[in-house]
Amino acid sequence: MAAYEFETHDYDVVVVGAGGAGLRATLGMAEQGLRTACVTKVFPTRSHTVAAQGGIAASLGNMGPDSWQWHMYDTVKGSDWLGDTDAMEYLAREAPKAVYELEHYGVPFSRTEEGKIYQRPFGGHTTEFGEGPPVQRTCAAADRTGHAILHTLYGQSLKEKAEFYIEYFAIDLIMTDGACTGVVCWKLDDGTMHVFNAKMVVLATGGYGRAYFSATSAHTCTGDGNGMVARAGLPLQDMEFVQFHPTGIFGAGCLITEGARGEGGYLTNSEGERFMERYAPNYKDLAPRDYVSRCMTMEIREGRGVGSGGDHIHLNLSHLPPEALNLRLPGISESAKIFAGVDVTKEPIPVLPTVHYNMGGIPANYWGEVINPTKDDPHAIVPGLMAVGEAACASVHGANRLGSNSLIDLVVFGRAAAIRAGKVVDPESAVPATNAAEVDRALDRFDTLRHADGDVPTADLRLEMQKTMQADAAVFRTSKTLAEGVEKMKGVAAKMADIKVTDRSLVWNSDLMETLELTNLMPCALSTIFGAEARHESRGAHAHEDFSTRDDENWRVHTIARIGETDVDLSYRPIIEDPITPEDKGGISLKKIAPKERTF
Ligand SMILES: Cc1cc2nc3c(=O)[nH]c(=O)nc-3n(C[C@H](O)[C@H](O)[C@H](O)COP(=O)(O)OP(=O)(O)OC[C@H]3O[C@@H](n4cnc5c(N)ncnc54)[C@H](O)[C@@H]3O)c2cc1C
Repeated sequence: MAAYEFETHDYDVVVVGAGGAGLRATLGMAEQGLRTACVTKVFPTRSHTVAAQGGIAASLGNMGPDSWQWHMYDTVKGSDWLGDTDAMEYLAREAPKAVYELEHYGVPFSRTEEGKIYQRPFGGHTTEFGEGPPVQRTCAAADRTGHAILHTLYGQSLKEKAEFYIEYFAIDLIMTDGACTGVVCWKLDDGTMHVFNAKMVVLATGGYGRAYFSATSAHTCTGDGNGMVARAGLPLQDMEFVQFHPTGIFGAGCLITEGARGEGGYLTNSEGERFMERYAPNYKDLAPRDYVSRCMTMEIREGRGVGSGGDHIHLNLSHLPPEALNLRLPGISESAKIFAGVDVTKEPIPVLPTVHYNMGGIPANYWGEVINPTKDDPHAIVPGLMAVGEAACASVHGANRLGSNSLIDLVVFGRAAAIRAGKVVDPESAVPATNAAEVDRALDRFDTLRHADGDVPTADLRLEMQKTMQADAAVFRTSKTLAEGVEKMKGVAAKMADIKVTDRSLVWNSDLMETLELTNLMPCALSTIFGAEARHESRGAHAHEDFSTRDDENWRVHTIARIGETDVDLSYRPIIEDPITPEDKGGISLKKIAPKERTF
């Protein structure tokens, strides 16, 4: 007998998550006539995608020459040669199509004088395979691009009759004979339990920024899909690659978009020096994020930080015309006022590198199908399960994501998952029956947490985890900090057994919800720090001071992490080197994208 009564729902497809990735997948599934449910713990338009400011990359060439091959090259280089070539090609090649679709769905993009979609420069986006000048590739709806995309996709999904289950919290996957056959959910506002049986489950649950103390991501970014996958005995990939955004507001953590530097903003140290000119003579303030974050950290370490503690950096916008700030960056002007008390037309904004994005996640191919590598097949697919968006690792961002390449990842791969589901999901076939044993397992886990009566309150343990990750898996990493961090995190994770939940009710029980979220953050944090400790090189966002160079011979591989309660078993999987389109059919030349030193 299950610990709780539950209601069952049968669908062709269940998408978990209603951010940009989840909504684009939902819309695409519903458009093809698949019976589609979208389950989300927050109202769709409150998903973290709503906060995306800067824009979405696609080589439309509206502001000067551009090509998908150049976009692909920049993505390969940005990934520090750890991305999968087929996925990076798919992203760059399909991007213009996906953006024009968004335009036709109704996204109110900013416009050029001629009425075309406005595009701004972003870090690491160039022309001529990195040889030419920077390109304006990032399509923007002022500095509220994510907001515009999310509202449009939600409206379109409703129009296509996708069914939304809002404020339903997905607890665990249902796995039947190695295939995913559904998901168990808790309805937050009335405490009822719901079992969704489906032919395909799509995880679009976003990142896990909240494993760290200071993050630009919403409090809801708790890696729930990653946690569900880990509990289902499936691995996570490349978790050690965590992106720090150079410009989180000092103290508050909220983001000032890279678009601010794209529009002409620049960083200064305590001597008023535009120090990025020294570190990156070509790209200056628009060097990729991992690099700018390290340079800022270096300035602070060497005593050139600003403020009374010498512990942050200034972002200057006051030289820009107020009309431009008002037109192109109204949202961040407001954020700077509210969170730093700064008038951007007069004063610099205090900023600090802050956790922003997770390159790692659920391993998937470029159709969104989840991968569980075996000895014989490093690309083996898990039937019935897909992952898209920040939760997934496709892998297009490799060791470091370029700005504005996430929003495009959401729509390109959300769309790809729908195209694939259209082929592999048969609307005529029967929906898998309820797997009672699996439902029991999920509900028993829920019940155990609900009645957890240990000594450690959830909030205390979460803080301990966040502080450990912030200190020991930071912008710069050393063998010592990582080894200590691994031991500390093992200790922190062990305390889950002693967790204390105070509220035992089932209705709007945020204490219990945050505890469930902590059970998802914990495997993310563990696999991040274990993976980082084991990776003896520096690549992209993983800057290891004792192994300061990239080691392509030994480490151009994806980390595969299988996660237990307090331990992580690591293995490695080759990256995919072959593109989809051969050079003689218009694809990129392999010579062009062969690994070389990443200079700026
Ligand atoms: C402040 C900020 C600004 C950014 N700006 C840009 C930018 O300008 N350009 C760019 O390319 N990228 C940007 N990014 C990155 C990008 O916005 C994110 O990577 C992206 O929005 C993630 O989208 P997603 O659809 O994967 O997940 P999210 O938008 O995070 O959505 C996750 C969804 O999953 C649901 N969910 C999660 N767990 C559960 C559960 N247990 N049960 C049910 N539902 C669940 C949530 O309700 C939500 O609907 C920015 C990120 C931040 C934090």
